[in-house]
Amino acid sequence: MENCVFCKIIAGIIPSPRLYEDDKIIVIRDIEPKAKLHYLCIPKTHFASFSEMDGEKAEIIKHCFEKIPALAGELGLQDGYRVIINQGENGGQTVPHMHIHLLGGEVLGDF
Ligand code: 5GP
Ligand code: ZN
Repeated sequence: MENCVFCKIIAGIIPSPRLYEDDKIIVIRDIEPKAKLHYLCIPKTHFASFSEMDGEKAEIIKHCFEKIPALAGELGLQDGYRVIINQGENGGQTVPHMHIHLLGGEVLGDF
């Protein structure tokens, strides 16, 4: 999608090292980390939120939740992590391209 920062990262227009990539998703570091370790798991398909979910997109989200625990150790999240998915304005979503925050590397306090 034009003007979508995550689509630009996926297309390589904005450089961002990929810690993991396959045909459906990428995992990158958040540019403004809110914890010692802060990653974003981003579907390559552009859709804004769960409100646009269909069977194909649900498969991509399922893929994310299969890959996240498989990658946790190599991402330094072996002692636990927090998963956050902000949805829409009230949810604090600032980038309208679905993404899953992974926070860890330290004991996290209440948000
Ligand atoms: P949201 O607020 O939409 O849930 O999360 C968007 C996240 O994307 C924020 O934590 C923000 O720091 C991160 N972000 C925004 N632009 C970029 C970028 O260009 N590169 C990376 N790596 N992260 C970004
Ligand atoms: Zn996008």
